[in-house]
Amino acid sequence: MRVLLFLGLGVTFVISTPWLVTAEEWVSGKIWEEPPLVTPGECGSPPSDAIILFDGKDLSQWEGGENWKIENGYAVAQKNGITTKEQFGDCQLHLEFATPEVIEGSGQGRGNSGVYLMGRYEVQILDSYENKTYFDGQCGAIYKQHPPLVNASRKPGEWQSYDIIFTGPRFDEAGNLLKPAYVTVIHNGVVIQNHFEIEGSTAWHVPPKYEAHGDKGPIHLQFHGNPVKFRNIWIREIRELTYRQKAENEGDKKGEEKAENAGTH
Ligand code: MG
Repeated sequence: MRVLLFLGLGVTFVISTPWLVTAEEWVSGKIWEEPPLVTPGECGSPPSDAIILFDGKDLSQWEGGENWKIENGYAVAQKNGITTKEQFGDCQLHLEFATPEVIEGSGQGRGNSGVYLMGRYEVQILDSYENKTYFDGQCGAIYKQHPPLVNASRKPGEWQSYDIIFTGPRFDEAGNLLKPAYVTVIHNGVVIQNHFEIEGSTAWHVPPKYEAHGDKGPIHLQFHGNPVKFRNIWIREIRELTYRQKAENEGDKKGEEKAENAGTH
């Protein structure tokens, strides 16, 4: 009985630990650069490699920023939209906004603003708390292309957050589209756009259309007649890691590390 039990445990151990029965570990042959170290922020504060676009004090990094009112650590949209002086490609963008606490207007006229990626692709900002409008124009919509998957809006006047992960489109030298843009949007911690394939620019009056442009473009915040507030705006450019393919005759320089990690997955 004791022998059988021991045998049983032994078989279970071998089955649940496949590295014991694998002859040799599979390796991709890709020798990756080491991922850079980044110190993460806390509760929405910027990580160490972020570019701060607005820290509550001034809008000097934005064209037109001199026309917005700055008070109590936030900026209030008025007179015109604002556009970053610097241009960005693939990126992670964090910003916080609040639509006016005092409700005025309805539908598209209530708390309207927007975040334009590369100056062309709008993630809508709107007061969509108990405020109906066309679904692909409500808060978090890729304007006129795709509604948010859910409505995660907070009440008017409350601070809300967007975390946007954007991959820009790619064009060939003749201006043909090679790859469309993609966007993921997290609104107040909730995924509302999941790697959505952007269909082109997001105008009110014409269908989406791609027009060739460079690998980088500005971030634009829309002024649509409503005093929407903004704070804590930062951006990180996203760069793919590089690697080289290991040569056939190349030794295993990572032997120690490999031995150390044997059997982990
Ligand atoms: Mg808008």
